[in-house]
Amino acid sequence: MKVIFHERFYEVYTADPAAAAGRMEAIVAALGDDFEFVAPAPASENDLALVHPPSHIERIKRSRHIYEVGVLSAGGALMAAEIAWGGEPAFGLIRPPGHHASPESCWGFCYFNNIAIAVKKLMQKGQVQKALILDFDLHFGDGTDNSFRGNPQVGYFHPEGSNGQDFIRKIQKHLEQTEGFGILAVSAGFDRHVVDWGGLLTTEDYRTIGTLVKTCAYKICEGRRFAVLEGGYNHDVLGQNVRAFIEGMKD
Ligand SMILES: [Zn+2]
Repeated sequence: MKVIFHERFYEVYTADPAAAAGRMEAIVAALGDDFEFVAPAPASENDLALVHPPSHIERIKRSRHIYEVGVLSAGGALMAAEIAWGGEPAFGLIRPPGHHASPESCWGFCYFNNIAIAVKKLMQKGQVQKALILDFDLHFGDGTDNSFRGNPQVGYFHPEGSNGQDFIRKIQKHLEQTEGFGILAVSAGFDRHVVDWGGLLTTEDYRTIGTLVKTCAYKICEGRRFAVLEGGYNHDVLGQNVRAFIEGMKD
């Protein structure tokens, strides 16, 4: 299990909660020395262009700081996908997040759609014909949905649930019915935790979701799976939640 991380993800590049000081520090501290960290290279403009037209890329470029960490974040997702393709699970501990970035617009603390870029790259290289994206963030990943609308090669699933058990049951049911995909990609947002914005899931629920992801990946695609960080804003619990999910997801 590899964790993809870059020192520049510590930087406060805007005033939004995803970029808040202490957020990455909390996760890195909770993971401790128990996981191997690797640093990504920035995504190239050709990689960004797999999802975004030049007009969007140029718009983000006007904010130099956001662009620099944005391409590193997308590069982290690309690296996670590549490692997963090679047979080892990977977690992209990256920011800015990406699932609210549509091809031509973005909001919700997102700039480039990290997971969409990573999935499209695997397809461009012919490594994967079909991909399933599970997004368990509190918020619907409209950017990811827009990136693959009408594309039968990519399934996007964003579960909802009336309580923790119901939420997990929905994921389980969906993953059990899943077949024919070459990789399982996860938009891992932790803002549904009981003391985060969504108020629904416990830390152990994240471990269970990680285990469901692993089980499904072994069933459908020889274990190939990766996840990238999306939301999660309560620094007191974010680290333990990420850790529990990764522990559930790893071999
Ligand atoms: Zn969210």
